[in-house]
Amino acid sequence: MTAEEFRRAGHDLIDWIAQYLEECEKYPVLSRVAPGEVRRSVEAPLPQHGEAWSAMWRDFDRHIMPGITHWQSPNFYAYFPANSSYPAILGELLSAGLGVNGMLWSCSPAMTELEMFVLDWLVDLLALPAHFKGAGVIQDTASSASLCALLAAREQALEWRGNAIGLASAGARLTLYTSDQAHSSIEKAAMIAGLGRENLRLVKSDDAGAIIPAHLAQLMNADRAAGCTPCFVSATMGTTSSLAMDPLRPIGEIAAAERVWLHVDGAMAGTALACPEFRDIADGLELADSFCVNPHKWMLTNFDLDAFYVREPQRLVRTLSILPEYLRAAQSDEVINYRDWHIPLGRRFRALKLWFVIRSYGVEGIRAHIRSHAHLASQFARWVQADSRFELAAPPRLNLVCFRLRAGDEASEALLRRLNESGAIHLTHTRLQGRYALRLCIGSPRTRESHVSAAWSLIQRIADVVLGR
Ligand code: PLP
Repeated sequence: MTAEEFRRAGHDLIDWIAQYLEECEKYPVLSRVAPGEVRRSVEAPLPQHGEAWSAMWRDFDRHIMPGITHWQSPNFYAYFPANSSYPAILGELLSAGLGVNGMLWSCSPAMTELEMFVLDWLVDLLALPAHFKGAGVIQDTASSASLCALLAAREQALEWRGNAIGLASAGARLTLYTSDQAHSSIEKAAMIAGLGRENLRLVKSDDAGAIIPAHLAQLMNADRAAGCTPCFVSATMGTTSSLAMDPLRPIGEIAAAERVWLHVDGAMAGTALACPEFRDIADGLELADSFCVNPHKWMLTNFDLDAFYVREPQRLVRTLSILPEYLRAAQSDEVINYRDWHIPLGRRFRALKLWFVIRSYGVEGIRAHIRSHAHLASQFARWVQADSRFELAAPPRLNLVCFRLRAGDEASEALLRRLNESGAIHLTHTRLQGRYALRLCIGSPRTRESHVSAAWSLIQRIADVVLGR
């Protein structure tokens, strides 16, 4: 591809993206392809010679688009949002255009320094504890951030011997704690960090899905009595199933008394801290050793970008640092080399898109985005409560409503299946206290009251069918 061809294709592509985002509600939200269909449709011999962009673009349109589920549609209510925005897309494009790798400060000083600066802005935007200033790093995902937190907690508990002599030789049987509602990434981190799933204790949650602190203390005491060493607690600010909020203060007090690392996973709900009226969920966050939030979920910043903060970054650096000769740089003592703050060596210029988003929307624009979703979710929850065939499955929180048909799990499952088959909206489900629940999570910047009320009318109509009326 020549520079001239790139220019032309690039202009067309930007036009296409703008039109796609304006019109994406015209597509069935959930892709309708069968397993293997896309693979079969792109099957072709390995090209021996280069092809024209026009041929690739034609195939994208023909074969790839049908296999896309439209996450940016205003009718996408599944999982958690991965909302995007024009400034973030431009930031991604610019990052690709520069093609830089910021493993060391000297590899592109602007990459490191902008990242430090933007993460400090995020501390102000979310009113995070002041000790997180100068202590943030961008990770790809919350899963990676939680894993890094656990690795640092592990090394701290082993007095930094685990990395040196291996876990078997380091001796201690370490235990870790999270709620029975925590995201699966914590269990995965326990596996990867070599601590073992069997040493992960699931603390009971209450009816609202939040950790019961007394049970946490009980589990830790029992473990100490059995000769284990508690090393890590992960509390969740907004659980995946129902956005339940773990009480951070009592959990933090227990962790501090036990000298155990407290990590707070605010992957989804952390963004709500931009609004002063939602900041009660952060009570006790100053007790945390680490915290992560995903602007790539609810802060208009294209996937991927997780902001990870550590109270004392030297504990993280001591855990992850390794210095081969070919990475020695003259300024190592004066600057941050982010390669020591996460697992991969290389890193993309992700800070650009967050910088553009914060400047483009401003604090008030980001707040308006969150408030509008929270408002629409509470409106939807009122409609659910007003229809005697339905019930709320958990207290509605922020932008999420969990609900079900009173007729039971089978009816609720049938309702979800038919809703998704309709192509008009896309929802997903969970189980709360053993019972099936549909989740409606409002996340697209394009979702208006008209979309949510159309979704509710459709849900009511399909409920008529499911319930045989
Ligand atoms: N933590 C919580 C509370 C989540 O809800 C999720 C995803 O939904 C994750 C972690 C995982 O996020 P990521 O895909 O960034 O690893």
